[in-house]
Amino acid sequence: MVRDAVVIGAGLPGLLAAWRLAQGGQDVVVLERRTVASESSALAAGHVPQESTSPHNLAVLRRTRAIVDELDRATGGVVRFREVGGLQLAVGSEGAEALAARAAQAAGPGAAGEFLTPDDVALRWPDLFCGDLAGGYYTAGDGFVRSLNLAAVLGAVARQAGAEIWEGCPAERIRIAGSGRAAGVEIGDGSVAARRVLVAAGAWSAPLLARSGIALPTKSFILQAVILVGNRGRLPFMSELEAGHYVMPRAPGALLLGLPPTDIDVDVEGFSRNPDPEAVDRWLRLLRRRAPILENAAVAGGWAGALTATPDAWPLVGRFGPEGLYVATGFGGGGVQRVAAAEAVAQLMMDEQPFYDIGAQEASRFDGYGGEPFEFREGPFYYGEAPGAQLW
Ligand SMILES: Cc1cc2nc3c(=O)[nH]c(=O)nc-3n(C[C@H](O)[C@H](O)[C@H](O)COP(=O)(O)OP(=O)(O)OC[C@H]3O[C@@H](n4cnc5c(N)ncnc54)[C@H](O)[C@@H]3O)c2cc1C
Repeated sequence: MVRDAVVIGAGLPGLLAAWRLAQGGQDVVVLERRTVASESSALAAGHVPQESTSPHNLAVLRRTRAIVDELDRATGGVVRFREVGGLQLAVGSEGAEALAARAAQAAGPGAAGEFLTPDDVALRWPDLFCGDLAGGYYTAGDGFVRSLNLAAVLGAVARQAGAEIWEGCPAERIRIAGSGRAAGVEIGDGSVAARRVLVAAGAWSAPLLARSGIALPTKSFILQAVILVGNRGRLPFMSELEAGHYVMPRAPGALLLGLPPTDIDVDVEGFSRNPDPEAVDRWLRLLRRRAPILENAAVAGGWAGALTATPDAWPLVGRFGPEGLYVATGFGGGGVQRVAAAEAVAQLMMDEQPFYDIGAQEASRFDGYGGEPFEFREGPFYYGEAPGAQLW
């Protein structure tokens, strides 16, 4: 039996693609080595901005929001998009200039935030220490979605639409036919034949493809998060441009503190899933300086997940390598907000027009990649676009 498509990895992009493929009448099976959303897709802060300086990125962010809203209506609120706004703070003049430039640039695609002086920030958020600030940037429409709920619902609707999800079924390697075309996936003591193969195995995509003789230009890294409980005043979603950490209000009396990337090139088969207490302590001290109201907030738990970065900080979506092979990975710390890109991959796999112009972002831009080293670059996930950085 030859399937229309096999998807490797039941994280957010794999599940969304499988759902859309099944809805499109495709015979699709998802291979998941553990259980649905057993890695980073369950661990995200779930930040989904609704503003970008890039029209392509904006189309994806808005589509993600639309998908969340669609599933929200279908499930009675299981995956609700919670608007919490987004504030980014800069302490250096270069950072403030970048935020001001961003306000001007984002006005083009039509969803600009506003540049704020330190006095504006102090007036609006009296719980923040603003003595060291050079500027701020605020967008009202940003929010978050609980990524674990989103993944669970995507798994359910994918199954409902007819997709099979085989948990506990690791893909060993891609099967390449004599013609050079991807023809299926080898698993344990057998294989699944398919006309098209989608690799959406997060940080494990590169090792899987390497076993298949295909080099994928990604670097692994770790993101950590902890939950803080205690009085959190009226803090918005807030990130620090230079230091790189962020906080997300999650519930009354609870905040998620997200740490910047660590452990570049980490071994994805052997990393700690617990946050590093020393690092947490360090970032918590910085956060308390910014928000003294958190002085008595306590760490109630936390986690760490493996992610992938790409040479140009754009995701890897669409065709890659041999005919019949597709990827949806390389999302870095932004795979929730940009999960809709996987819908575009499913559309490509069904020979349909993707909902946005993915041309320049297609993974095939790296078809000639032969394993050359490259610098780690984090993408524009919480407005961390450095001045002059290439934008998605
Ligand atoms: C602390 C933290 C905070 C984050 N915050 C945000 C945020 O605010 N906003 C945002 O947009 N994103 C955020 N992210 C990023 C987001 O979680 C990821 O970009 C996204 O979940 C990546 O999804 P994925 O499916 O590519 O990878 P994963 O979720 O890691 O899924 C990969 C799946 O593939 C499976 N797999 C691996 N190898 C194989 C194999 N050989 N065969 C079969 N299955 C296999 C794994 O078991 C896993 O289920 C955050 C991540 C972390 C860790």
